[in-house]
Amino acid sequence: MGSAQKLNIPSDRVERLHYIRRIFSAAKGPDLAVEWSGGRASGLRKLNAVDATLYGRNRNFINGAVTHLSPYLRHGCLTLNEVFAFVKKKFGAQGEKLMMELAWRDYWRQVWLYEGNAIFSEMEPPKVDIQYQPLSDAVKQANTGLPCMDGFVKELLDNGYVHNHARMWFASYVVHHLKIDWREAADWFEAHLLDGDFASNHLSWQWVASTFSSKPYYFNKENLERYTGGKYCATCTVQCPFDASYEALSARLFTPSVASSTKQYPLKSLPMKAAHDFQANAIFVHDEMLSAHNELMGKPYPKIFVFDPVLCGHWSLNRLQFVADCVNEMMNVEVWVGDTHEVLMRKGVGQVLTQDTPNLRIREILAPFAPRWQPVQKLVNVRISERRLKRFSRYWEKVNPLLMADI
Ligand SMILES: Cc1cc2nc3c(=O)[nH]c(=O)nc-3n(C[C@H](O)[C@H](O)[C@H](O)COP(=O)(O)OP(=O)(O)OC[C@H]3O[C@@H](n4cnc5c(N)ncnc54)[C@H](O)[C@@H]3O)c2cc1C
Repeated sequence: MGSAQKLNIPSDRVERLHYIRRIFSAAKGPDLAVEWSGGRASGLRKLNAVDATLYGRNRNFINGAVTHLSPYLRHGCLTLNEVFAFVKKKFGAQGEKLMMELAWRDYWRQVWLYEGNAIFSEMEPPKVDIQYQPLSDAVKQANTGLPCMDGFVKELLDNGYVHNHARMWFASYVVHHLKIDWREAADWFEAHLLDGDFASNHLSWQWVASTFSSKPYYFNKENLERYTGGKYCATCTVQCPFDASYEALSARLFTPSVASSTKQYPLKSLPMKAAHDFQANAIFVHDEMLSAHNELMGKPYPKIFVFDPVLCGHWSLNRLQFVADCVNEMMNVEVWVGDTHEVLMRKGVGQVLTQDTPNLRIREILAPFAPRWQPVQKLVNVRISERRLKRFSRYWEKVNPLLMADI
């Protein structure tokens, strides 16, 4: 007898927050803030509020007109294609900056699809000497003494959201100033984000570290002060480690790398579970397809979602609550917590139908159930060569004329 449990997710929001907190009593962090409620309806409200023209002018500012769409895109409440089409139709050429950022998301995902689990190890030798110190409690507990970095960590822990520019500054500080192992930091960061996504997250950390870019990313005080409106520097009383010219910082932080190889972070394979001879079909709803509008939701099979510890055991409480909002809104999805194999066996499922994903953990888990993979519509219907997948600029050179052709 296993321990998987069927959940009765309450439809009332407050009860749902309590319920998830009780079921996942080991999950850390505060409750999900109401402005981050999960589900397609919330995602559509955010989409309708997008001002792509203003975004193009001020997205790098911490209080700029950013969209907050990432958790909804990450969990499939909205698709990348529909968001792209919406921006293109409503804003035309004025929306080009936002469309390019959406293409970054597609780019990282294409790299994941192509490279598989290789994205969890260094993609290229680092271009500067990086080191592999453990991630300290001071960083994780917002206790470095730097109001900016501690402020970003507080936002991460409190809301599960950090502005893109702050993510870049923070990653650069952690990897290049504190010399921390980018992989440990990336794992920790991803676990606390509502939009936590292995492709966008781990590959961005590698981009900052220079293991998937031609140079390291770094910044100085002037840059941070400008784009934050000076709000952190105003209260800072410590010697600022960023207060220098780029030349001086580069000389202080970087020595040329002698590494000609890449550091590998082996992933443990899951133990293979037994096959079976059941006949029934089911739709396996995974965490990238949480929308009643997903085309698989129209199929006449039971739909099953499992909070499987292998996939979401590291998530913060508010991420679990976000996902509970999503599955609650989908209405006809059976929700379980526990081991997916056990759940599907108990339901007598022979074959699962699900949405294609680069997440090889999901593929491993579903392997005993002869999975059929529904392809995800591509952002642009063209084959991207391996060479183009090495850098966003090369990818963009190819897809930009196709995506923007009719503007
Ligand atoms: C170190 C680091 C870690 C990151 N981790 C994640 C992650 O786990 N999940 C995640 O979704 N994004 C991640 N990003 C990318 C980016 O920071 C977020 O997608 C973005 O900040 C989300 O906020 P938004 O929706 O308001 O973005 P907006 O600026 O409003 O952009 C709109 C959309 O475009 C896409 N986008 C924008 N910038 C990027 C980018 N640099 N890379 C990829 N897509 C982008 C996102 O889908 C985003 O929702 C990371 C970036 C860095 C530097």
